[in-house]
Amino acid sequence: MPELPEVETVRRGLAPAMEGARFAKVEVRRRDLRWPLPKNFAQRLEGQTVTGIGRRAKYLLAGLSSGDVLIMHLGMSGSFHVFREVGDKALGRTYHERTQHLAHDHVVFHMSSGATVTFNDPRRFGFMKLVARKKLDAEPPLKRLGPEPLGNAFDAAMLARACKGKKTSLKAALSDQRIVAGLGNIYVCEALFRARLSPKRMAATIATSTGAPNERAERLVEGIKAVLKDAIKAGGSSLRDHKRPDGELGMFQHHFRVYDREGEKCPTPGCRGTVKRIVQNGRSTFFCPVCQK
Ligand SMILES: [Zn+2]
Repeated sequence: MPELPEVETVRRGLAPAMEGARFAKVEVRRRDLRWPLPKNFAQRLEGQTVTGIGRRAKYLLAGLSSGDVLIMHLGMSGSFHVFREVGDKALGRTYHERTQHLAHDHVVFHMSSGATVTFNDPRRFGFMKLVARKKLDAEPPLKRLGPEPLGNAFDAAMLARACKGKKTSLKAALSDQRIVAGLGNIYVCEALFRARLSPKRMAATIATSTGAPNERAERLVEGIKAVLKDAIKAGGSSLRDHKRPDGELGMFQHHFRVYDREGEKCPTPGCRGTVKRIVQNGRSTFFCPVCQK
């Protein structure tokens, strides 16, 4: 499932094709995504200019001149592809890719910039919604989200406050979108490794009894921010479905230090541990039991 870095990579791919451009034509080939598309979806988009493409956690937010915001979520297997009409040397290859994807291209945006943006989603857990900008913060998928981990407001004090008294594991706490938004299995494992903290450690132990951050909270915030920045720089991780909108693969999967590396030597210099896999809340956790305490 795409996490924050993959969605941010998609945002960066869509922005040049969509920002400042109008929806010239919107084709809906399949309405029943995770939820049915809103009524009059195409009509509400056509003629509108995209004022900006933003992101909140794993949600893409396209601001429209009408005052609406188009919320887009990739679900498990959703992806966007951007095709340019003219002067594209790679047209042959692009066309080939198009025919392969056609069956699952559910929504196609024809932009006034000349770009065509298709939304492809074989498993159809993704969705699109239109809401008034004023009501965005109250919208169910967004309203209970915790802070953006790369935002300035997210720091050790904030994370410690959120974890104060929590008897769940750090793995579970960081996977909870109300505590910090946008992290999933991969980046939680990688952040905990960078912070040298065990995924089994109780979340409350990064805060003092009054909820003040200790040194573990500082390390953890540093680890979260660093791994997300590195992953975004690499274009996200392409495990199964993630591709950048230009069709290129993300490269961060080659830089995982523990995720999916069960049985390999721990990459921490001087550590003689071996990466171990355990199951927490039904999901695999990868960590080094020697240097992550
Ligand atoms: Zn180790």
